[in-house]
This record gives sequence, C-alpha cells and structure tokens, in this order.
Amino acid sequence: MSRVLRPSRRLGTHWLTSTHSYPNYSSCKHMSTASSSAHVAFVGLGNMGLPMALNLARNRPTELDIRHITVHDLHPPNIEKFMRLAGEEGLNESSTTYSAAQTLADVAESNPDFIVTSLPTCEASESVVQTIMKHSSRNQDQSLKIIDTSTISVFTSRKLHDLVSSSSSQNDYIDAPVSGGVKGASDGTLTFMVGCSSPETFSCIQPLLSKMGHSIIPCGVPGSGTAVKLCNNAALAAQMVGICEAMNLGEALGVDPKVLAGVMNVSTAKCWSSQVNNPHPVAARDIGSGASAKNYEGGFGCALMLKDLNLAMDEAVGQGLDMPVSGLTRILYGKVDAGGYGAKDFGIMLQYLKEKK
Ligand code: NAD
Repeated sequence: MSRVLRPSRRLGTHWLTSTHSYPNYSSCKHMSTASSSAHVAFVGLGNMGLPMALNLARNRPTELDIRHITVHDLHPPNIEKFMRLAGEEGLNESSTTYSAAQTLADVAESNPDFIVTSLPTCEASESVVQTIMKHSSRNQDQSLKIIDTSTISVFTSRKLHDLVSSSSSQNDYIDAPVSGGVKGASDGTLTFMVGCSSPETFSCIQPLLSKMGHSIIPCGVPGSGTAVKLCNNAALAAQMVGICEAMNLGEALGVDPKVLAGVMNVSTAKCWSSQVNNPHPVAARDIGSGASAKNYEGGFGCALMLKDLNLAMDEAVGQGLDMPVSGLTRILYGKVDAGGYGAKDFGIMLQYLKEKK
C-alpha cells in the first residue's frame, strides 16, 4: 500500500489544561429521546471489533443503557458470526436488541446516536465516515458521535473530525485508538486514548467506551488520541527489539533465559516486553504470560506493528523530526513481515535475530 506524506500541524491540548470541569453525563444531548438509552452502530467486526461489539451487547453496567445495536462489516461472514455468537450467548434475551446492516447506507439510515468503528487502514476509515455522512438522516436537533477506534494517521483523524463536526454543531468525530490487543478486546479491558473537541464530548462517550475498556484516557484535542497511540507503539517496538537483543546475547553467553528475565524484571531493564510479553518462550513459560510460549500466536502481530511504525515515521517526517531507532525497528519489522511472519506476535523478532547469527 502506498503511503502519502502530509504536512502535520502541531496538536494542542487546550481543554485538558483548562479549568473546565467535566459536566455530568445527564448534560450530554446526544440521544434522540430524553431517556439515557442509546442506539449504537458498530462498523468493522474483525479481530478487535467483533469482541468489542459483543461487549457492547453484553449487559455491562455503566451510566449508559444501550437499547439497540446495529452491526456492519464489509465481509458478510463477520456479521453472521456476530449474530451467531450473540444468539448463542442469549444476548437477544437482554434489554438490548440488535440487527445486521448489509450496507453503510443502512447503518446511517438506522439513525444511531453513536457509531463505533474498528477498521484496518486510513483509507477504510475515510471511506466509511464519508459514506456514513453522505447517508446520515439525522436532523439538526439530533447528534451523531462517530468514535473511531482504528489506528490511523493524525492527519486522517483531524480531517475526519473536520468533516463530521462541520456537518452540524451536534455531530462529532472522536479518535479513540486502543491498546490491549485481542485479549483486551475480549476481556473488555482495553485502554482507549481519546482525542476529542471538548470535555462535554468526552463525558458523552466515556460511559460507552467503559463497556469495552477499563482505562478511558482523555489525551486532548482531535488527533491527540491517535498521536499518543503512535508514540506509544514506536516506543514499544524499540523496547521489544532491545529485550530481544538482550535475551539473545544472554542465551549465547550461556545464561538461563529464566534467570536473565528474572533479573531484568527486578532491575533497570524491566518493562512490558521483559515482564508481560517476554519474547523468549522459556522465560515466558516461567513468567506465565507471553505469546512466545504459544509459538508467538495470539499476540500483537508484526504486520500491525509495521503499520504503526510506518504511521509514526510519517508523522515524524511531517514534523521534521529524526527518529533513528524507529527507522531501524521499521526496517527490522519490514523484514520479519516479508519473511511471512506478519501474523506472529512481534516478539518473534528474537527468532529473526537468532537466524541471523
Ligand atoms: P481486522 O483486519 O481483523 O478487522 C478489520 C475489519 O474491518 C474486517 O472485518 C474488515 O472486513 C472490516 N472492514 C474493512 N473495510 C471496511 C469497510 N469499508 N466497511 C466495513 N468494514 C470494513 O483488524 P483488527 O486486528 O480487528 O484491527 C482493527 C484496528 O485496530 C486496526 O486499525 C488495528 O491497527 C487496531 N488495533 C489492532 C490490535 C490487534 O491486536 N489486532 C491492537 C490494537 C489496535
């Protein structure tokens, strides 16, 4: 996929640093009725979106009641899978009803209060949001909040915010990318990094996101959630490659991987990649967590890390910043991905380093 570099503007965080306090949820005028129950649509039922949508349908208590969920995916079997799993769990017997939309026009015309998206690329987010806005039939008194949980560029996040918010003062686009992977999506323990226009908007969407995650963090103005996500993952890639190099060197020097990881985890090298997702299968088994112990299955894929590094590097170029370490990790993850390991957890970098010996 070709990537287009755009000049980036700097992001402010003004409402975060203002003295404005968060309003009560009751002041959120997003619903089409006076009640605090909402119609939510979910677009993109992939590895992340499907479990997130199921968590919306489960009756997880927050300040928000969801009266109806409309689901849609470009790939019809994913819609069928949601309907089947929701049926098997008996979710249709709860107070929340749900339905399948065959097209995005159907989604827009079903008149939801919120649309949550979980899509693979900037192009997919752009096309979905533009189509929704084209077909949206909400009147000026009703509001539509589009919450995009996809990892995309800051430029795209801001562009979509401008598109949606200029359609009506009631409409808004919020960037809310996630951390926590497929497990976090299934367990409802995701972290959401939220970029939005005001504390009122944040208060409106927080109860909804709380049905899918544990940490809902306001990061500032539109685009700032995306910026935080890209910065986090650029640092994470460098952290993982560092741990892989150290585990590889230690093993070559005859040190037991369990001993090395154990010392790191009470010393200065301690981090998520040494402790929670150690790339060495022996150390991961000892710690009791980590995709490496399961042949690098079910973790955060190298292809997704490469995508995030490409997005982060594009932002760095737009800002005229040098990111030499991220430049290198991008090359390394590009090689691992090209080697056919795109779906494997990004800790598989350790095996790549071993093969290079
Ligand atoms: P995925 O490819 O499994 O799912 C994307 C879904 O979007 C697919 O079901 C696809 O059919 C659907 N889709 C694509 N274009 C569409 C369109 N135009 N209209 C409707 N549906 C469309 O991807 P995923 O792993 O679920 O990731 C989703 C997003 O979350 C990505 O942006 C990814 O970077 C981010 N993310 C993923 C993880 C992870 O561990 N998988 C972790 C954090 C963030």
